[in-house]
Order: sequence, then structure tokens, then C-alpha cells
Amino acid sequence: MSPSNAAAFAASLDSQLAELDLSARLRLVSSLEGLAVFTTSLGIEDQVITAAIGLNGLPVEVSTLETGRLFKETVDLIAETEERFGITIKRFHPKPDDIDAYAAKYGLNGFYESVEARHACCHVRKLVPLAEALSGARFWITGLRRSQSGNRAATPFAEYDAERDLIKVNPLADWSLDDINAYVEAESVPTNPLHKRGYPSIGCEPCTRAIKPGEPERAGRWWWENDEKRECGLHVPEAVTSAVPTPA
Ligand code: SF4
Repeated sequence: MSPSNAAAFAASLDSQLAELDLSARLRLVSSLEGLAVFTTSLGIEDQVITAAIGLNGLPVEVSTLETGRLFKETVDLIAETEERFGITIKRFHPKPDDIDAYAAKYGLNGFYESVEARHACCHVRKLVPLAEALSGARFWITGLRRSQSGNRAATPFAEYDAERDLIKVNPLADWSLDDINAYVEAESVPTNPLHKRGYPSIGCEPCTRAIKPGEPERAGRWWWENDEKRECGLHVPEAVTSAVPTPA
């Protein structure tokens, strides 16, 4: 499919998804031709999607990026989620040589020193494993919501990702945090205990802090940076996240 046809297809899919509930959105995407991959960070939104996939027995591949810097609570939740929903979550890891090269150039925790160093770490620990997780996929399902941050305010239900040449599907785009919490309660979805300790958004341990009352949901992610740069490159084009050098 050419990029223009793929974009038109995504626009049509976006309109169809807007009329459906979560289960129907996922059912529709998983019924279309081509592999559907859902990448979960084990955050509360992603747990809702995992639950909907597991409870409905949908043919969606569920994958996670084990960056090597996750909270223990997050790692423990992977196995708990597999057991609760009777699914297998595929783990993708960074390459040891890439980690060594990063540490030699920036230091293991060099991400605090500059945006460039932080993006380089996310590249090695997240973007490279993500590319592996999405290899062969036609649809990439994510837990993005419009109300999570200003960066995500225009999130569509479906869009063509030209950089990765696939259709990105965001079935929770129009959900509020209250909607998420209500689903979790209704379906007894296991969640990360850190959420109750002030972490609405959870990433790698050294790059996530608890937020204060009244702060935006993602204020605890890369808290030392300006808001407009606070993405890791998973959901914005790499070119937009400024220089992301591949470690030699
Ligand atoms: S979130 Fe932090 S530790 Fe994790 S990959 Fe990005 S910079 Fe590295």
C-alpha cells in the first residue's frame, strides 16, 4: 500500500473507530488483514487494553520493552498480568553492545546531563527494541490518551505512521482518567502499586518521580526537562526528538 493509500485507509479507520467502544475497536482492528501488535508499558491505560484483549481472546500480539531500568513493581506486574488474563507478553530487551557503547560515551546515567544524552538512552533502551517488537506488524496499538499531556491532545484513533510504515491505533484516545479507573475497578484489572503512591505515569525508575497534587499527569516523567521535549521518541518521529545518535 502506498503512503497516500495508507493515510486514506487510516483516516477511514479513524472514523469507524470513533463510533465504537473499546472492545469493538480492538475487535475491528484485530479482524483486519495483517499483524496487530500492542506494546504495553504496564501503565494503567495499557493494563486496560491488555485486559480487553485478554478478556475477549483477541488475536493481538502483546509486547513490552524491558529497558533494564524499570521499577521492580513494573517487572513484577508483567507476570501477574500474564497469569490474570492467560496471555503471554513478549519481552524485548536492549542490545548489550548498545548499552555498553552508551555507557562509554555518556555514562550509565548520562541522561540527566542533556536532552541529547537522554534521547540517546531512550533510543538504545526503547526505540531499538520497539523496532524489533513491531517488525512485521501492520497495526500498532497504543494506550495514548488525549488528556495525558499537551503533546497528546490531538491523538486520533488511527493514523498512518510514515516513519514505521504502519497504522497506529489509539483505542483510548478519547478516554479520561476517570474512565480508565472505572474500567479497572469493574474488571479487577491488576495495576502498578506505584499509581497509588503518586505515579500516574510510570517509565524507567531513574526518569520517573511522583507528582504533586495539581501537576499534569506526565509531570513526573523526565521532570528535569521542558514539557515540550518530554517524550521518548516512541510516539513522536525521531527527527522531532532532536539528535538521537546511535551509539557506535
Ligand atoms: S526513560 Fe530514562 S532510563 Fe529509560 S530509556 Fe529513557 S533515558 Fe534511559
